[in-house]
This record gives sequence, C-alpha cells and structure tokens, in this order.
Amino acid sequence: MSVQSAQEIDIMHGLKTVLAQIESAVARRSKDLPQVTPRLVAVSKIKPATLIVQAYEAGQRHFGENYVNELADKAKDPLILENCKEIKWHFIGHLQTNKINKLLGSPGLFMVETVDSEKLADNLNKQWLKYRKDEEKLKIMVQINTSGEEAKNGIEPPETCQLVEHVLKNCPNLEFTGLMTIGQYDYDLSKGPNPDFITLVKCREEVCNKLNLDIKNVELSMGMSSDFEHAIEVGATTVRVGSNIFGARPPNFKP
Ligand SMILES: *Cc1c(COP(=O)(O)O)cnc(C)c1O
Repeated sequence: MSVQSAQEIDIMHGLKTVLAQIESAVARRSKDLPQVTPRLVAVSKIKPATLIVQAYEAGQRHFGENYVNELADKAKDPLILENCKEIKWHFIGHLQTNKINKLLGSPGLFMVETVDSEKLADNLNKQWLKYRKDEEKLKIMVQINTSGEEAKNGIEPPETCQLVEHVLKNCPNLEFTGLMTIGQYDYDLSKGPNPDFITLVKCREEVCNKLNLDIKNVELSMGMSSDFEHAIEVGATTVRVGSNIFGARPPNFKP
C-alpha cells in the first residue's frame, strides 16, 4: 500500500470534487452561451510548492498566484521546475510597473489576467519582447471592477471597449483573450444571479459588438470557491478556485 499524507489525499479529493462540480455546472449552463469547457485555475497563493506538485501530479496544469514575488519564487522553485514541466501560471493580482520584469521572466507564465490600464498594457507589450519565445504573444485579460468597490482594481465597465481596442491596435505582442472580474465576496445568491457576473457578460457582448470579435474567442474569468458553479452557469470560461482545492487560508488573510 502506498503511503500518502493526509494532505495529499485531501488535494486529490478537492480537485476531483471541483472538477465534478464544474462538469455538472456545465450541464446546467444556458444553451445560448458559448459551449466552451471551462478552465480551472487552481489558486495556490500562500500554499507551498509541495502542494502544487501534488495537484500537478493529480492532473492539474493551470495555477494562479496574485503576488509577483510569490509567483516568481514558485515558478523557479527546483521542485516545481523538476516535477511540473508543463505548469501554466496565471497572474491574477495587481501588477505594479516595477514588478513587470520579474513577472515576465518567470518560467511557465501563461497569462496575465489583470491588465487594467493602457499604460500597463503598453509596458507589458514592450517588455515582453525580452522574454518571449518563438515570437509568441503574451496572453492577457482585461480586469474589470464590476462591483465599483474602491478597494478593487480594474477598469470601470464603460471603459472596457476602449482598453480592449487599445490592446488590439497598439500592442502587437499581446494577445487579448478575455475579461476578468473579482466581484463582491459572498454575494447572496438567493437574491438572484450575481450582478458582477452579469455585468462581465454584458461587457463582453459590447466589446464583441463594437470591435467585431467572435464571442467564442473572448473568455470570461469569474467565480471562486464560493461561487464558481454559479459563474459557469452564467457564462464563466475560466474559474479561479483556491480554498476548495488547497484548504482554507487563515481567516485574517486578505488577497
Ligand atoms: C484568492 C483568489 C481566488 C481564489 O479564492 P478562493 O475563495 O480561495 O477560491 C480567486 N481569484 C483571485 C483574484 C484571488 O485573489
């Protein structure tokens, strides 16, 4: 009998449960939404490399971090370099200009989900030239502050088309892949669909109409542990789930 730590079993179980929940949420999803299989991003912030390796060995490939230093350290951790050769990192936190190089130099960086200004897009576009391989573009999403909370990053919903158009026209080294929101925590779903998610869906509709993009090519990253199933039902194509896979973070931890 193989010896597994309690934690190992938990992570396998957590992942399996989340993947099964994603599948059944897809079955409930409205048929007029793009029929994309949602991508699970396992949010590993404050969790050690050993647990990331366990999730990777259980089949998970996409991981999310919201601090540049933490992503960079983990991406270069010998344990991860050795065991997780196809890992795909998503940056999901606020990106300061002075951290761009550190982020872009991280092995396995797959996508920056939190572009929220023309200046940041321009900087990423310029710096990426130093890091890209085979002239591949850097995948980005535009972050929208759908709840209007001051503490949240992201552009206001009406600014979406302008920023997306800027990326498409002026940032040839970036690939615009979709829209991302964090939204209100703990929204009470008994009140109906989460208005943040509905807003993000509407932003996509507008962007696609105005800029003549195919809705199937514009992803929506929304939904976390407490609401990813609901997010999928209303159109999420990427969900970012942390605690349901890796266990709860300390209660006083603020992302
Ligand atoms: C922490 C975090 C998540 C995951 O949160 P859980 O509630 O643990 O699933 C998702 N998105 C962002 C931007 C985060 O910071």
